[in-house]
Amino acid sequence: MESRLQERISIVIPVYNEGAHIRESMARVEQICREASIPYELVLIDDGSRDNSWEELRSMAEENPDITAVRLSRNFGKEPALCAGLDIAAGAAVLVMDADLQHPPECIPEMVRLWREGAEVVEGVKRSRGKEKRTYRFCARLFYGMISKATGIDFDNASDFKLLDRKVVEAMKQMPERMTFFRGMSAWVGFERCTFDFEVAERVDGKSKFSLKRLVTLAVTAVTSYTSAPLHCITILGFIMLFGAVLLGIQTLYMKFAGHAQGGFTTVILLLLFIGSMIMISLGIIGLYLMKIYHEIKGRPRYLTSRVIRMGEEEKQ
Ligand code: UDP
Ligand code: MG
Repeated sequence: MESRLQERISIVIPVYNEGAHIRESMARVEQICREASIPYELVLIDDGSRDNSWEELRSMAEENPDITAVRLSRNFGKEPALCAGLDIAAGAAVLVMDADLQHPPECIPEMVRLWREGAEVVEGVKRSRGKEKRTYRFCARLFYGMISKATGIDFDNASDFKLLDRKVVEAMKQMPERMTFFRGMSAWVGFERCTFDFEVAERVDGKSKFSLKRLVTLAVTAVTSYTSAPLHCITILGFIMLFGAVLLGIQTLYMKFAGHAQGGFTTVILLLLFIGSMIMISLGIIGLYLMKIYHEIKGRPRYLTSRVIRMGEEEKQ
């Protein structure tokens, strides 16, 4: 589309404890945009870093009017940081990527080209998953396979490396949930989509900020936000166990009338343990959905900003 040629894109990047390399990393992103003559603004969200990230972002934003730096009031997590970025970005399209350059900035011109040709969501698909442990890769496969099946949204090899048209960003901003899952939301909204492959690069510096606990929390948010299949599974499990119980009852009655009364104290204990665990798992699943409702109903803001530096000036909060 001709009209998209001159339009400015916003590049949103969440930053958490990336102070050691952020300046060089962003210089690379800027250089690539400049070489490809893409008008851009950088929106850097400091997610309550405890290193020198904010000092770096502040001085970068003060020196360069193309950079907007936002500091959240504490560490909210990557998802809320992305929401903050989408809220503040002003460009005709928003490109989201990681600060550690695992999403290679060399792909930006290609993504912008696809958008200019009319795509409204340009999604990065991981060609290889970079250096990940085999167990991690297995878990990721299993997890994404399961939620892809349950939600009907294809999550396999999906990433947060995306370019979204303004229309899509506005649609996503209308989704009111407090606990967000960026990948799910951008899939849920639909629109004209196209994908491109990229190799996950090595982290430029430091190590992943995602602990197992955070990954599990994200997984729970993803599942509870996009499907109620686990609740149906409980009902189905209940029916299967009822069916088994009826069969066992018939068999026991038959044996009794045939003159072989059953002892089977062990069986009783085993059955009790089995049923007990099933009930506890089921309650746990219901609990997860309750927790989700509880968090949503509180209606707290997704994030709080403490400082914004735009066009070289600090804005009053
Ligand atoms: N990140 C963030 N808040 C957090 C954790 C991570 O904003 O609480 C950012 C981080 O700075 C990086 C991106 O999210 O830009 C991806 O994080 P990371 O590289 O640690 O995750 P991984 O690549 O292992 O998925
Ligand atoms: Mg990373």
